[in-house]
Amino acid sequence: MTAINIFKGKCPNCKTGNIFSSNGNSILFRMPEMRKICKNCNYKFEVEPGFFYGAMFVSYALACAQMIACFVITWAILKIPIVYIFLSVVSIALLSSAFNFRLSRTIWMYLFYKKR
Ligand SMILES: [Zn+2]
Repeated sequence: MTAINIFKGKCPNCKTGNIFSSNGNSILFRMPEMRKICKNCNYKFEVEPGFFYGAMFVSYALACAQMIACFVITWAILKIPIVYIFLSVVSIALLSSAFNFRLSRTIWMYLFYKKR
């Protein structure tokens, strides 16, 4: 299943090797560390220099979706004051940054994966 492999951060070529050597931690401001090649099949993750610039658009879309979802939940369902809505939307954006970094790069790789 492709969707499961994307969430697990598996190599788009062999679907077994891990793309990231560490998951990162948003609370400790530690970004995930990415491997250059797959340990299992030697697939080169960065196909060309600057390949992952495009992943920023995926990351932006993910962050927007999460922030809108957070806003809708806090505003329409929980009905909390606007200050707390703002704080929860900002904290969602900060806390999901490492997760979005991993997910956006993995989605970008799967989008442009060609069997070599
Ligand atoms: Zn692989």
